[in-house]
Amino acid sequence: MHTNKIELRFLGGVEGDIGGNIIFFGKNGRGYFFDFGLELTRSETLEKLNYPQEQIYNKELAQHLDPLVHNLSKKKVFLSHGHSDHWKGLNIIPVNIRREFIVYAPVYTKYLLDGRLKGFSDIKSIKINYRDPFSTSFNDNKLRVTAFPVDHSILGSCCYIIKDQESSNTFLYTGDFRTHGLLTGVLNRNFWDVIDSKKVKAVICEGTQFAQVCEYTNENDVALKVAEIIRSYRDRVILVVTSTNDLYRLKTIIQCAVKSQRSVYIYDDKIEGILKKIESFTKTKDSFVELLEKVGITSALTNVKILPSSGERRIEIFREMRQSPGKYVIVFTNVKSLFKILSEFGDALKGGCCIFSLSEFFEEELGIETEKIISLISENGLLVSRVHSSGHAFPEAIAEVLKKLSPETVFIVHSKDPKNFKKFLEGNDVKSQIYCPRKEEVFKF
Ligand SMILES: [Zn+2]
Ligand SMILES: [Zn+2]
Repeated sequence: MHTNKIELRFLGGVEGDIGGNIIFFGKNGRGYFFDFGLELTRSETLEKLNYPQEQIYNKELAQHLDPLVHNLSKKKVFLSHGHSDHWKGLNIIPVNIRREFIVYAPVYTKYLLDGRLKGFSDIKSIKINYRDPFSTSFNDNKLRVTAFPVDHSILGSCCYIIKDQESSNTFLYTGDFRTHGLLTGVLNRNFWDVIDSKKVKAVICEGTQFAQVCEYTNENDVALKVAEIIRSYRDRVILVVTSTNDLYRLKTIIQCAVKSQRSVYIYDDKIEGILKKIESFTKTKDSFVELLEKVGITSALTNVKILPSSGERRIEIFREMRQSPGKYVIVFTNVKSLFKILSEFGDALKGGCCIFSLSEFFEEELGIETEKIISLISENGLLVSRVHSSGHAFPEAIAEVLKKLSPETVFIVHSKDPKNFKKFLEGNDVKSQIYCPRKEEVFKF
């Protein structure tokens, strides 16, 4: 362990797990973790079975993490974004170890995790400067860690460029990313443009979209489809279920509604908190704020009205909605909140359309299957439609990025089928050595 070589290990997000990424870099007895996720399907099943956190930790992380952390003098965690498959592991590690970790996250992710990361006294924000990325790098132990914005289905996502200044080796951890979203369009330089491709030793790359049905739709396609639905349901109500985390999507929907002169109301008990977070985020000098403005998120959000949870105004809105359903788009940020108020709409729903615009069509929190959800919505005379674009890069776009970076080695993470994704990449002329790492494996650079 006490060597000035870089030791790379994968404690999660490998062996077919989508999510649960824990990428470990060790150097001179110090540890740097990139993301600290939990594989959600297994861990949530255990949670539902009322397993205490300690047991979930023992089942999921202890075996690989325990021997490692005891030998480390310093432990730092760098989070790439606010999806729980990238940070939830922190909430189950034993409290005594927790105190030894310092967590770093981009400013907006830090806001999102405010109050959700328990027992960490030291959560720091890591600055992102997309114009001059290396000016805000974090330096420690001759390791330079640079966060750079990436396009993904949650605001504030970043990748990490890690440079070992002793060996001059550069590593890249992509986190979750896509190349077909709104952010890619406004970022005039993406991570594959800022990294000197002559020096890339290894890229740790996500492979989510492989071995799934790949739908080639981007955010503009979503906008066109939503606009078309709104047009053809001219006098009818439109309900939309999307995720509050995906403010890019929320922006698309708000814009479509506003263009067709409909009022947009959002119904979710968390939305006020999220809007407040965005507001305080936009007050920071983080360069990401500029990008949000370029994408149009900040201006779109000014058109949003929150559907009050009670009171006169709410009764009035529902009355108006029953009279002229075609004047409204109501946005829900999860299926639960939709079911909460579905009955209040009365006849206003008949002949309308409910658009699902999120990745997790099946809502785990409800514990009911998609089919059941569709039939419950249909009972109101509503048509269910799905309009979506993925938060993850299309496999051939990943091949292009890897060819540009031409690293010596590629490690596939966050993929259901890494072995066959490797074949796909090789078939698409990625010349790097491609590994599908196992949890026990150690790589030295
Ligand atoms: Zn993920
Ligand atoms: Zn993600």
